[in-house]
Amino acid sequence: MTSFPAQARRVHDSTRSPQRRLHALRECTLHCAPYGFRATWHHLIVTARIPRRLTDDLDALVRAVDELQAVRDVVLPRAQEYAAERRREKATGRRIPQTSPPWNSWGWCQIAYCPEPEHHPTTPLATVVQAVFDRHAAGVSVDTHCLACGTERRLPGRGCPVCGVHADGPAARHHGILAAERWQRIWHREPDDGRASLAP
Ligand SMILES: [Zn+2]
Repeated sequence: MTSFPAQARRVHDSTRSPQRRLHALRECTLHCAPYGFRATWHHLIVTARIPRRLTDDLDALVRAVDELQAVRDVVLPRAQEYAAERRREKATGRRIPQTSPPWNSWGWCQIAYCPEPEHHPTTPLATVVQAVFDRHAAGVSVDTHCLACGTERRLPGRGCPVCGVHADGPAARHHGILAAERWQRIWHREPDDGRASLAP
């Protein structure tokens, strides 16, 4: 798997076939998926309005990768800062991290994990991730509040009823046949009975 910047350039490259550009977008999403891959992919399809027939709107692929780039710009400095801190800790013999920020324990690509692919925040990815960082820095506990939207958590073990983010991260995977069928529809960018219009 090549790097995010290399794949992002491929998404922008209009000399490539639409399918190859879509494949490069998928690779970018595997690198940077704050909601987990499936929910992040669904978010991009909806907000960038990626049509079922890609040639109907090739700019949609660029809109999608630009949104990923924006959120990566928010996350990367934090991840690098954390990695440097860990190197310093290890150099002093501390094997267990002193701090456990969510982008470490959940993987920085799953900062606001949404187990249900179609239930995720509707605001831009970078806005949501910044909100998670800000609430974390302000000392808000994931045990009492959703870090993404601030909603009070009344039912431990459940995802946020407002924005879909689950504090347990990828451990809260969504299983079942229905989920698999829904994922196939999302993947092929097919409208879902009017509930979520995936095509313009
Ligand atoms: Zn929430």
